[in-house]
Amino acid sequence: MAEYQSKILIIGSGPAGYTAAIYAARSGLNPILVSGTEIGGQLTLSEDVENYPGIEHSIRGQELMDIMKKQSLNLGVKIINDKIVEVDLNNRPFECSSENHNVFYTQSIIIATGASAKWLDISSEKPYRGFGISVCATCDGFFYRGKNVAVIGGGNSAIEEALFLSNFASSVTIIHRRDSLRAEHRLQQKIANKPQISIKYDSVVEEFIGTETTPKLEAIKIKNVKSDKIETINVDGVFIAIGHKPNTEIFQNQLELDKFGYIKTQPNSCKTNIEGVFAAGDVKNPEFRQAIIAAGSGAIAAMEAIRWLEK
Ligand code: NDP
Repeated sequence: MAEYQSKILIIGSGPAGYTAAIYAARSGLNPILVSGTEIGGQLTLSEDVENYPGIEHSIRGQELMDIMKKQSLNLGVKIINDKIVEVDLNNRPFECSSENHNVFYTQSIIIATGASAKWLDISSEKPYRGFGISVCATCDGFFYRGKNVAVIGGGNSAIEEALFLSNFASSVTIIHRRDSLRAEHRLQQKIANKPQISIKYDSVVEEFIGTETTPKLEAIKIKNVKSDKIETINVDGVFIAIGHKPNTEIFQNQLELDKFGYIKTQPNSCKTNIEGVFAAGDVKNPEFRQAIIAAGSGAIAAMEAIRWLEK
């Protein structure tokens, strides 16, 4: 249990958080970054990252995040492995309390707590997360060229993922729990013209099957919820697209959030409705969910915070 004082406190250790920390440290502001429990954020679940500039071939998501952490430490960022569980943004300095009973007093805050993809949360799913089961087709789809994949979900994201995957995969099976898609009509029309995409309606995943030692997904067992019929489909990869949840519980009643719970920021800016509080990355931007976008957003938030502190 300790008390910390800072000019900038960064909450979150994904690409947005580390980038904000790097910019703040290089401005001589001695930022503190509180990492959260999932150190490195969503990218640590990516099998291989090829679309982040500066990487010659490909890199595991975990490795890329370890490099960002080391870069931040080398520049003097103080990183604390802890989770903020309560914030008071009504008084200055702002006060944040953590799971380990640390208290952080700070003049400005950059919130980079991200969003979490929803998983199916069945027991056989865990061993293959990041090893055949992905929550991001843009990130991992390329590795399934000529392979058979399935997409779980029936909303806009699921259909967009299926359309994207149909550029690489030889077959894409959408598995949806109801008898009609939630996705917009225009997207449904697009998949109708793609012979490699098929849909299994009224179906839920019962089990992921493969080799667990060096995790390799081989098939999924699905159940038709109307007939109870069980079917096994051979797949090399599964993309789960059943929605995301912004990590903003602690900011409810403190900051303006949109109807989905994402932090509202001013146009082309990371400024929230409270002066001195900035939001960066997926916690504010559900549209582009990419590491490079989050990193850029972290840089903007830091530059805005630096200018605000100078004032
Ligand atoms: P949605 O909430 O729209 O859809 C989630 C889908 O996953 C639904 O079909 C839902 O089924 C299904 N689902 C949820 N939980 C489970 C579960 N446990 N098991 C199986 N299936 C499950 O999320 P999206 O990520 O698709 O979209 C989020 C928001 O972003 C939406 O408002 C969407 O319109 C928007 N968006 C817009 C895009 C665009 O305009 N181009 C692109 C992507 C997203 P059910 O239908 O039965 O509830």
